[in-house]
Parts: sequence; C-alpha cells; structure tokens
Amino acid sequence: MDASGLMARVERRWSTTPGFLAEIRSVVASLVPVVDASPELASEGVLERLLEPERVLMFQVPWRADDGEVHVNRGYRVQFNNALGPYKGGLRFHPDVDLDLFLSLAFEQVLKNSLTGLRLGGAKGGSDFEPRGRSDAEVARFCFSFMTELHHHIGAAVDVPAGDIGVGGREIGYLFGAYKRLVGRFEPGALTGKDPVWGGSFVRREATGYGLVYFVREMLRARGDDLAGKRAVVSGSGKVAIYAMEKLEQLGAQVAACSDRGGALVDPDGIDVAIVKRLKEVERTGLAGYLEARPRARYLKGANAWAEPCQLALPCATQDELGVRDARRLVANGVQLVAEGANLPCTADAISALTGAGVAFAPGKAANAGGVATSGLEMQQNAAQQAWTFEDVDARLQAIMAGIHASCRQAAERSGSPDDLRTGANVAGFERVARAMLDLGVV
Ligand code: NDP
Repeated sequence: MDASGLMARVERRWSTTPGFLAEIRSVVASLVPVVDASPELASEGVLERLLEPERVLMFQVPWRADDGEVHVNRGYRVQFNNALGPYKGGLRFHPDVDLDLFLSLAFEQVLKNSLTGLRLGGAKGGSDFEPRGRSDAEVARFCFSFMTELHHHIGAAVDVPAGDIGVGGREIGYLFGAYKRLVGRFEPGALTGKDPVWGGSFVRREATGYGLVYFVREMLRARGDDLAGKRAVVSGSGKVAIYAMEKLEQLGAQVAACSDRGGALVDPDGIDVAIVKRLKEVERTGLAGYLEARPRARYLKGANAWAEPCQLALPCATQDELGVRDARRLVANGVQLVAEGANLPCTADAISALTGAGVAFAPGKAANAGGVATSGLEMQQNAAQQAWTFEDVDARLQAIMAGIHASCRQAAERSGSPDDLRTGANVAGFERVARAMLDLGVV
C-alpha cells in the first residue's frame, strides 16, 4: 500500500484517538522518503505494521481505601512493537490518562528505545489512579490489584515496565512485591527502576534527567558552545526535573526556575535542588514550602515556568505543557535551545514557532532516552547477576546519549536537513526497528 492509501486507512482506524493520530502523522511525515526509497520496506508492509499496536490491554483495578470505600480504576498496557526485544516502557499513575495518551506514548517509545541501540521493544501503560494524597497502605493495595491482572502479561523476556509520572521508588517497590508474590519467584528482570538493594541499578533514578543534560551538552558542543554559565529553566519538579537540575548545576549552568502542578518557582539565586528534593521526595508536598528556606524566591501560583528569561528551556513535567504562546515568549526572551525531558511536552505549533525562530530543538524520544537506556542496563545487570558501580553506569549513560545525538544528526543529514533532530530521531529510530522487522518476517 502506498503512503497516501496507508494514511487514509490510519485516519479512519484511529479517528477516535486524535492525539495518537496526530503523533502518527508527525512521525510518518519524516519516514515516507525512507520508505519510498526502499521497495523492500514497502513490499513487506513495514510501515503499516509499525503503525498498528501489537496488543492493547485494558482492565479493571478494584481496591479498597482506608475508610472502607471501594474504588474502581482502569488499568492499561499498550504493547506496541517487540521486534528489537521485550516490550519496554513506563507505567503512569495520573487521573488524566486515557487510551489515546497511552497509544501515543507507546508508539513514541518504540522509536526511542530503538535509538538507545539496546534490544528493547516499545510499550507504555498505567492507570487513572492518583497516588497523591493516598496513604502508603492504599498505594500498596492499589498496586497489588493492578499487578493481579498485569502479571499475566509481563516478564523479563516478555514486557518490562518501569516508572513514569506518579510511579516512583515506592510504587515500583509495591509492584515488584506484588509480582514476586503472584508469580512465586524473584525475577528482577521483570521490572526496572528497582532500588539497588534488591536488584536495581545505580543511576536509574537520575538517568532521565542526567541523560537529558548530557544530550544538551552534545547539542551545544556541536555548536562550539558549552553549559558553563548558561541560564536554564526546567519545568516540573519530579524525577526527571530534579536530576536535570542537579546535573545542570554540576556542569556549571544556573537553574532560574522550576514548577509543579500548583505554579512556578523562581529563585534569583538559582534553584537549590536539595530543598526541592526534600519537599518532593521526602515530604511529598508542594513547592510553596521552598520559600521558608529561601525568602528571596517567589512562588507564582497557577503560572508555568516559561515566562522566566533563559537560554536553555527543558520541559520535564508532562505532555502539552509548552504551547505556542509560551514558545513565542521564550523566543522573545532569547531562548537558544529547547530539549524535551518529558514525553510530548511541546505542542506541534510551539515546535514550529521555536524552530522557525532558529532555536535548537531536541525531541523527547532522543533527549529523554537516558531513562530507558539505563533501564536496559539494569536488565543487563539482572541477567548477568551483576551490580555495576555508579561511575560505570554513568559513563555508559554518557556514551549512549552521545551516540543517540550522533545518530540523530547523521540521519538528519542523510534526510537533507542537518539541524533537524526531530526528523533525525524518527529516521534513526525507524531504521533499526525496520531492519529487525524485515529480518523477522511478517509475523
Ligand atoms: P513525576 O511524577 O516524578 O514528576 C512529574 C512532574 O510534573 C511533577 O513535578 C508534577 O507536579 C508535574 N506535573 C504533572 N502533571 C502536571 C500537569 N498537568 N501540569 C503541570 N505539571 C504537572 O514524573 P517524571 O519526572 O517521572 O516524568 C515527567 C515526564 O518525563 C513525563 O512526561 C514522563 O513520561 C517523562 N519521562 C520520564 C522518565 C522517567 O524515567 N521517569 C523517562 C522518560 C520520560 P507535582 O510535583 O505537583 O505532582
């Protein structure tokens, strides 16, 4: 089937999931020239097969709150493509999730995981459960109920979930405990993001944020520039944002602002990451408490972080959090580089406004791939029953991020637009998956 026939079918099939459809459209635009140049890709229906998720699971998750009330949430797992290895991708617990979002994120994950150069297929899942405000006992009961269904569909060689929004060390612990009980064996390779004490990898917690900054360093290096003295704004204050801020600081940049669901935090002396860590990781509260320790800082309720002038903007909170007005404001304030730490945080028109103004742009599937890459390293350690040092894993992460940057740039050059890392990431990610799909046949 030719590209226009394929897209007509895709538009009909996914008309009820507009976010996923938009994501397909943007990726396919980069891939059509590659497919057109290879008769084998067309004759083997590689693109058509790649656009169809291999399995979509949706299930009931009933659980009882501390006050005795019964709640029913919905669980999801989209297992999109496993040509390169076991399905791999995070679990998100957030009230706003739906199938449309998980389809988009799982598709994105296929190309991202391919870019890491590791043997990882792509998946994503989670639930509309909100862990915030729930007791540890409630989160544990929810996780057990969620895993009661999910354990049938995962495993070290099948599908290996990890954390994402709302799923951190506590949730991964309860999910792994539930899995261990339900399958009756200790199988560390079935989940990543584990604590190093019971089978996790050093650097996994930091990996997405650190990897993002390593990627930004490569982008700057390619322009003969570096991070020292740069002023950055990072949105969010979760797992990705915290460790992006930490690495920015370590490499000599200053973080002017970050944010959470309640508003934006601006500190004229630079954000003190240790305080943010305490508030978010230990006390699990909002950023407003930061002002007690740093009275010169301001917490702007209901605002996002993009009004703060900066050279580097790193969206690290959630999807669609940087729109076209934010992009124009960033441009007016002199932003030079935007790199996505979150998945799909910039809207399509925001990306056009940024790139149209000459701002260097890195898509999440390349820039935030350090998290899943380190999950891949965690799986390797689990399989070999080894535990590598922090320094060893960090060095591998740096090499992987430099490799992803180089392959995106090379693919962008081959596509005729050397600075377009979006096209580069789509093409480089696709080429590896397509190679595997050709080799494995129409199965
Ligand atoms: P966390 O739950 O740890 O942090 C999310 C942050 O985003 C929090 O500060 C949260 O605010 C904020 N946030 C959530 N929803 C909204 C919203 N609707 N508007 C504004 N802010 C919001 O998640 P992660 O840091 O793990 O993930 C962040 C992003 O990075 C996601 O897009 C995720 O898919 C992506 N990602 C994560 C990876 C990982 O390894 N964890 C790997 C690759 C990508 P509050 O503090 O108030 O809750």
